[in-house]
Amino acid sequence: MRAVVLDADGQPELVDLPEPIAPGRLVRVRACGLCGSDVEKLGRAAPGVLLGHEIEGELEDGNRVTVLHRVPCGVCARCLAGHESTCEQFREVRIAPGGFAERLRASHCLVLPGTVSELDGVWVEPLACVLRAAELVPRGRVLVVGCGAMGRLWVQVLRRRGDEVVAVDPRADRLAGARDLGALSDCDPVGSAVVTAAAGTNAALRRLDPGGTLLVFSAPADDVPTSLDAVYRNELRIVGSRSATPAYFRAAIELVPALVLPEVTVLPLERFREGVDLYRRGGALKVVFVP
Ligand SMILES: [Zn+2]
Ligand SMILES: [Zn+2]
Repeated sequence: MRAVVLDADGQPELVDLPEPIAPGRLVRVRACGLCGSDVEKLGRAAPGVLLGHEIEGELEDGNRVTVLHRVPCGVCARCLAGHESTCEQFREVRIAPGGFAERLRASHCLVLPGTVSELDGVWVEPLACVLRAAELVPRGRVLVVGCGAMGRLWVQVLRRRGDEVVAVDPRADRLAGARDLGALSDCDPVGSAVVTAAAGTNAALRRLDPGGTLLVFSAPADDVPTSLDAVYRNELRIVGSRSATPAYFRAAIELVPALVLPEVTVLPLERFREGVDLYRRGGALKVVFVP
């Protein structure tokens, strides 16, 4: 079976692996989205680290599914405090070998209803992350920093709950995409900001009203220091959110059919490195690999 794994230098490599064996259900992968967190691991992570977690697949009984790659315990102090992605049990990877493979084993599968179109199952996990994080964002006027694929999901989720959404992106074409979804592009202050692009953190901090909230939704680049001066002077709150929980996966499955999903660039696994380059250059809103 073919799968993309990390080699000794942490670089992605298409290799032949033995069939994944139990535990877990056998899933034939139909598509897997490339996430910023996958790209982040390239050149850094050790061989064997999970690649690919935005998955649509098919069970042996023919059911179309998405799979949960991590699951919190739900009962520890961190889970009960709402920080499920920091739960000890959440570290454990529940799929093997990963989403960029012909087949995988998964302990937690969720059936996709017919309302979720072919290959749209790859959006369930990213959307689940947005839905979970959105609970930390006070309602009102919200700035979305970065109008890539995640930014577009954010604009829609916030607008659907009645927020006034302002979007920023250095790229005119990406900003136009967010405006088509109802985002404004004025320069007035906002009550909260969602940062989906690390480079925008300081600009977002300066635009927040006193007492405002900044949500850190993507890994900050190492070379982007955050100025805390505005946090001090304007008594701002900075909150982080990473990953999702089963309840938000279920909510996302319900919501996917109602959203305008960003355009995807579909490539075969053989062209994995090319897809990564495309992502890094910003040449595609979303890269999805099919075995
Ligand atoms: Zn992801
Ligand atoms: Zn827990």
